[in-house]
Amino acid sequence: MQDFPISYIEPVFRPPSEAHSLILPVTNGCSWNKCTFCEMYTQEQKKFRARDEAQVLDEIRLTGEKMIVQRVFLADGDALVLPTRRLLSILQAIREHMPEVERVSSYCLPRNLRKKSVDELKELADAGLRMAYVGCESGDEEVLARVNKGETYESSLSALDKLGQAGITRSVMILNGLGGTSLSEQHADNSARLMNESQPEFLSTLVVSFPTGEARFREGFADFRPLGQQQLFVEVERLLQRLELRDTVFRSDHASNYLVLKGTLGADKQRLLAQVRQAIEQPQQARLRQEWQRGL
Ligand code: SF4
Repeated sequence: MQDFPISYIEPVFRPPSEAHSLILPVTNGCSWNKCTFCEMYTQEQKKFRARDEAQVLDEIRLTGEKMIVQRVFLADGDALVLPTRRLLSILQAIREHMPEVERVSSYCLPRNLRKKSVDELKELADAGLRMAYVGCESGDEEVLARVNKGETYESSLSALDKLGQAGITRSVMILNGLGGTSLSEQHADNSARLMNESQPEFLSTLVVSFPTGEARFREGFADFRPLGQQQLFVEVERLLQRLELRDTVFRSDHASNYLVLKGTLGADKQRLLAQVRQAIEQPQQARLRQEWQRGL
């Protein structure tokens, strides 16, 4: 749109559940940008930088004059890397110029919260930040190290706990297949342990994929053997079996998944397990997505 007040540097990513949100870039790229499975921000124009604060505030004001907005997603890869003061001024501007906004959300890396206290996060929550999407990917130290995630079980847990204490809804992603065949079991076991300890409000699994090739990934994981479709299901089954969640919305409906699962854990645990078992034993009856439907 020619006179749209917000300028974007493509490509821009958002979680599937933010399809109807205003995407507001407050940073460009990802401040870490070293996970070997991720190509989201590797193009030159996506090199990390914080966007100019005055420009962002102007865009908020101008957008508020033109349209009614109910949801805002702060882009790019880890908007919560910004200092609390700057985030507060963005949230306050959203409240002032887009008074209908009910929810502001953002991606968040555990490392973004190392220097942020629970009290600071509470201030952000009070100013409108409702939800953080945290790509934990795995709870297993070895998998995290092999893929250069730059996080550990403890750093992930600490971030999830801080967000929880601040009242910010946590939506966690775990990557099915990230440990390949050799680390599949410990990946499932320790990811379940991380989720059980942190009890996030939302959990989704995505299937690891390499649309632009595996070369970068194999630099740190030379003996990686990808899981076949059935092995991916066995890993999800193992994860689900070990999850002891009290009230978590579980989804595996991202385009990368062969098997779409939706439910609330723990209430729907047995039903979800039965669906996965059927996909393992009778894949032709399990309504799996075909390769061409996976939209990678
Ligand atoms: S932290 Fe997220 S966006 Fe950044 S490189 Fe890793 S997976 Fe990609």
